[in-house]
Amino acid sequence: MSQPCVNIGMVGHVDHGKTTLVRSLSGVWTDKHSEELKRGISIRLGYADTTLMKCPTCPEPRCYSVKNECPHCGAKTEKVRTISFVDSPGHETLMATMLSGAAIMDGAILVIAANEECPQPQTKEHLMALDIIGIKNVVIVQNKIDLVSRKDVIENYKQIKDFVKGTVAENAPIIPISAQQDINIDALIDAMEKVIPAPTYKLDKDARMLIARSFDINRPGLPIDQISGGVIGGTLTEGTLKAGDELEIKPGRKVESEGAIHWDPVHTRVTGIIAGTTPVDEATPGGLLAVGTELDPELTKSDSLTGQVAGKPGTLPSTNHSFTLRLKLLDRVVGVDDEGEIGQIKTSEPLMLNAGTATTVGIVTSAREDVAEVNLKRPVCADIGSMVAISRRIGSRWRLIGIGVIED
Ligand code: GDP
Ligand code: MG
Repeated sequence: MSQPCVNIGMVGHVDHGKTTLVRSLSGVWTDKHSEELKRGISIRLGYADTTLMKCPTCPEPRCYSVKNECPHCGAKTEKVRTISFVDSPGHETLMATMLSGAAIMDGAILVIAANEECPQPQTKEHLMALDIIGIKNVVIVQNKIDLVSRKDVIENYKQIKDFVKGTVAENAPIIPISAQQDINIDALIDAMEKVIPAPTYKLDKDARMLIARSFDINRPGLPIDQISGGVIGGTLTEGTLKAGDELEIKPGRKVESEGAIHWDPVHTRVTGIIAGTTPVDEATPGGLLAVGTELDPELTKSDSLTGQVAGKPGTLPSTNHSFTLRLKLLDRVVGVDDEGEIGQIKTSEPLMLNAGTATTVGIVTSAREDVAEVNLKRPVCADIGSMVAISRRIGSRWRLIGIGVIED
């Protein structure tokens, strides 16, 4: 399989069929962790790659599949492109994970179950997130059509049309499918081909990787000479990476000395790269990578480097302990029964901030109508001019209330 050229997010309400659709498009069940299986929800961003195939003789959209032989005529299919899915959780407490994933999505599939009233709370919340973050290439999937009558599918279609009016998804195609029964998957691939093109990546820039996961891949009790270095997972936003490259990771390691806390960048070297499931000599942007390093696996275990940034030493942005944010707030809170107005940001209120794949809490130190200054509980390495998603605690949950652009 070649390296994916585009990252596509699966978003939508819990149980509407995101993970099932990833499976029918890729054969990979992304709910890998036993805890996730137990709870039946995708706690961490799952990911899976797939190569889209095209029959040389059948017409569009019937020509599309993920099979080596055309399901209609049996002809040998040809490779169209390899894509990577980021499967977001739909559970309402996990919005931060969805927002972290949004940083690495080039487009999205919004999954809406046809057998429920539209919109459900997280359908609304996720679409609002795509809208405000500016993910414009959206395909809507009307899933579970095997469970409803033709009349109800059309009724549900009208609800979806009403719901997306005035959002980024206003003109998005709506494809009726059954992820479980593999119905109309060809039409969905056709829509993805037309609506979610691969971005043009800047390969001549220095490597910049957003870290979404980090692991210790060693079995417990391995002798020390057999231990593999720490592994980081994530996506390159620009540049290329190969074995032997030096890496700097920021903010890095938290160090406490004489009662003071500071963060030291970590330096290491790339030992190997896996793109999707394939080892590669050189990785480019697109898709999720697992990058082997010489780091002590203690440093990378249990996602401890999630949200950090890796790149060529000396080229990363500085580590921020505070931000000044130029604000663009939503009018109303979405995804709750009682959609109250969003009042101004107030001094000393805590906000949850998502910058790239990082999630941190910031305490507001000063606020005006369109600008807020925040002190971060955990520092973040981010460029000036980049975007931060802002959530506020409402009731017992963090709710997306808008975005901010980092001024300094
Ligand atoms: P997620 O929370 O959005 O990832 O949803 P899942 O993919 O875990 O699916 C939730 C449930 O809906 C599972 O029991 C699936 O088997 C079921 N499901 C998903 N897609 C379909 C479909 O097209 N038809 C039917 N009948 N059930 C589906
Ligand atoms: Mg799922």
